[in-house]
Amino acid sequence: MTIPPWTGEVPLVDTHCHLTNGRFDADRATVIDGLAPALWRTMTIGTGLEDGRAARALALAHPDRLACAVGLDPFSCHEAGDAFPTALSGLEALLAEGGFSALGEVGLEYYHQLLPKPVQREHFAAQLALARRLDLPVVIHLRDAWEDGLDVLRAHRGCRGIIHSFSGTEVEARACLDLGWHLSFNGTVTYKANDALRQAARIVPADRLLIETDAPYLPPLPLRGRRNEPTWVAAVVRLLAEVRGEREDDVAAWTTQNACKLLGWALPPMWG
Ligand SMILES: [Zn+2]
Repeated sequence: MTIPPWTGEVPLVDTHCHLTNGRFDADRATVIDGLAPALWRTMTIGTGLEDGRAARALALAHPDRLACAVGLDPFSCHEAGDAFPTALSGLEALLAEGGFSALGEVGLEYYHQLLPKPVQREHFAAQLALARRLDLPVVIHLRDAWEDGLDVLRAHRGCRGIIHSFSGTEVEARACLDLGWHLSFNGTVTYKANDALRQAARIVPADRLLIETDAPYLPPLPLRGRRNEPTWVAAVVRLLAEVRGEREDDVAAWTTQNACKLLGWALPPMWG
């Protein structure tokens, strides 16, 4: 079983995956070759400095397919521990070298037992301030942390970017939208239990909607348990179109245009 390839009018964008992950070691080149022509751009996310350098090397080797981002995600912050200030300076230096479309992912992870909540909030806030200073869009990771997450975002108005793997309800979606953020949906919208998430997806304006896979994680419904692939973002477009009552080609056009605008990429040729 697989996801039928995308053959719509407009190529798709996967705004979030981890192609540096070890689960792609055996066939990374094949996976990247397979992105064309269905995907216009795929953004691979570096979590931590070393992974960020690897993500950039991969993006530079495939400039017409891949883009990349880097941030100190909650797991990297946990590993850094007391050395967070050093890691933060390292992040600033790495971003200054160029080649990154965004800062992230950064945020709060309260599902796993990581650093204490107030410390996570500090690390998140410090990186939002850095993004603001560098005028970069941010990729946000929030898990089981809506109240604190929205609090930090409210304190950093003027930042822009993506709430990645959006997992909230309609209420949280409205709060993020009011603060100017884009919402990115992935395979989790296809999971049976996620009616509230599908309801949230219905209220997102077309110009704030994004799609992603989070590959190798979170494959869409019929393939749960398998390694997710960027091209399976097609399943997310199809499901969003269904629950929103819109044409698949429209959802594709909006999400591709939104990603290109937000992340500073050229539009596919059909927009000249
Ligand atoms: Zn991620």
